[in-house]
Amino acid sequence: MKTIALIAHDGKKAEMVAFVKDHIEALRNAHIVATGTTGSHILQTGLAVELKLSGPKGGDAQIAAMTAEGKIAGIIFFRDPLGKHPHEPDIQMLMRISDLYNVPLATNPATGTLIIEGLLA
Ligand code: PGA
Repeated sequence: MKTIALIAHDGKKAEMVAFVKDHIEALRNAHIVATGTTGSHILQTGLAVELKLSGPKGGDAQIAAMTAEGKIAGIIFFRDPLGKHPHEPDIQMLMRISDLYNVPLATNPATGTLIIEGLLA
């Protein structure tokens, strides 16, 4: 079973929950990991989620480490382009690691849909 990582900044959490609901059947065929607060929102959809730490407490770094270890098939990361984030270095690291290991990373629902269709169809 493929592992998909889901992360959303605070301004994008509602969008992530709506995205998960739109793709719930496909996502049920994956193992889902998520940063803590994002994951707790996603749990309300009924999808099983492995919760990592909250992003600002190291959750993005944990998902980056899993990516480097070859454990993540795809990352869907709805960043808030209007927000400032104390863990910006971790966010940059996750994006760098995804490029280093050629792991698909989507930052909006349109590309997130392509990842789901490409990996879980
Ligand atoms: P959160 O972290 O899901 O714990 O809010 C996401 C992030 O800010 O990277």
